[in-house]
Amino acid sequence: MTTKPTTRGARRFAPALAAVLVLTFASAAAPQAPRATPAPLPPGAVLRIIAFGAHPDDCELDAAGVAAKWAAAGHKFKCVAVTNGDIGHWGIAGGPLALRRRAETQQAAKILGIETEVLDNHDGELMVTLENRRKIARLIREWQADIVISHRPNDYHPDHRYTGVLVMDAAYMVQVPFFGPEVPPLTRNPAFLFSEDRFQKPQPFSGDIVVSIDDVIEKKLAVVEAMPSQFYEGGCCDLPTGGLPTDAAGKEARRKEVRDRFTARFASTADRFRPRLAEWYGAPRAAGIKYAEAFEVCEYGRQPSKEEIRRLFPFFGDVAAR
Ligand SMILES: [Zn+2]
Repeated sequence: MTTKPTTRGARRFAPALAAVLVLTFASAAAPQAPRATPAPLPPGAVLRIIAFGAHPDDCELDAAGVAAKWAAAGHKFKCVAVTNGDIGHWGIAGGPLALRRRAETQQAAKILGIETEVLDNHDGELMVTLENRRKIARLIREWQADIVISHRPNDYHPDHRYTGVLVMDAAYMVQVPFFGPEVPPLTRNPAFLFSEDRFQKPQPFSGDIVVSIDDVIEKKLAVVEAMPSQFYEGGCCDLPTGGLPTDAAGKEARRKEVRDRFTARFASTADRFRPRLAEWYGAPRAAGIKYAEAFEVCEYGRQPSKEEIRRLFPFFGDVAAR
């Protein structure tokens, strides 16, 4: 799916210009509050979340659980793959693979009840360019995002790293009126979050926000199954030993192997951040949580208080004590 068009043009430009003039004169008169701390999110608002992954499966692996939870509660979530994934398979590449992977993201979006978009950058070739910075900032503005999720800029894959850098580069620019003025700037800077990784340098992922996904784990596993090019078939570099199975028993065994691997992966996040889960859910409830997703608050963009995080992630009352 593509983003709905946003009203643009001179009509929207004039208020932006007026705002700049007001800010200019105001700044001469008194010191300004930091741009990253405007009024808090109004209670009961429909939340709008946009998540950027480098490839057509990253956003889903990192945040399908919270995406399903937000969507079920009436909030709006969009996954953006910043590259088209056209070399992400050991046996096929180019246009046919890009089309296949886009179809997989669309199937995942249907399962989760979210929107999705794949940008037409080649896999393995993403660069931090002005054009890409503009594109990312435009998508965040068009979505009117409250939360933006991406990779940390010290991830292993260059596309992951540069996606992280591009999103960080957009974090301030989304509210600068004359940067890409064809889409109106955001008046409230979103909270920018990083999705979980295991990299240690220059510092390990901090897991500031950890959410139970026990109630939606089957949906997340269904998303894994809906992306066979990456998981069942092995993606770019992990052709199963002995090749892909051809008989029914072998196919079922492979399906189970993939499911078990990802079940363990999603459980490992809950185990890794058990003390943090206790901070959000209380120790008795945290003890019973099996699967989780974790996010780190980027120091750019809006810096939400703990109280605001509870409004942005209205899930911490979902889990019963064991
Ligand atoms: Zn990736």
